[in-house]
Amino acid sequence: MLSLEFGNDNMEIKPTKIVCLGRNYAEHAREMKSEIPSKPVIFLKPPSALIGPNETIILPKESNNVHHEVELAVIISKKAKNVKIEDAMNYVLGYTILLDITARDLQDDAKRKGLPWTLSKGYDTFAPIGPKIVAKGEIDPNNLEIGLKVNGVIRQKGNTSQMIFKIPEIISYISSIMTLEKGDVIATGTPSGVGRIESGDEIEAWIEGIGILREKVK
Ligand code: MG
Repeated sequence: MLSLEFGNDNMEIKPTKIVCLGRNYAEHAREMKSEIPSKPVIFLKPPSALIGPNETIILPKESNNVHHEVELAVIISKKAKNVKIEDAMNYVLGYTILLDITARDLQDDAKRKGLPWTLSKGYDTFAPIGPKIVAKGEIDPNNLEIGLKVNGVIRQKGNTSQMIFKIPEIISYISSIMTLEKGDVIATGTPSGVGRIESGDEIEAWIEGIGILREKVK
């Protein structure tokens, strides 16, 4: 069972789905040589990919180029369907950090062939989450420093103010397609600076006001 600290309690992390945004920071879209999207680009990661803090990301043998992507994650508080932008924040429980671990070579191959990203995004351990959940209202999700170090060296550094689509718009958009359930997780995209991780690496991902998520790589 995966649980994270939430206030004075612990909360079990058991989403029905993890919905991720692609290309939600312009600089990252540019480094991927992708277009800036006119509406949110979404994909799913399976809940089976989740691991907690201080665990180990397992590199699959099918990939030679696994990348880190640090992202602000939103935890949904209650069932949401066709939610209006102005009501969307009523469906937010809180925030944490999610690493959208990506087998970049498999994703590049899928992009070339017009195939889904599921393979490149869906391996077990490809969704580390934590270190805790911070309640809505305790931080301003639109202005948080976000970054990631590998072996103590800064790789990614940005601010959530750089997100193209903001949280209310994201929730409204996703809920117009699929019902969001209590406990579902939305990963809001990564700033620029993504790069390769290798066996033995130690990752520290941080978001201002949330903390540091530490993981090993093997
Ligand atoms: Mg991502």
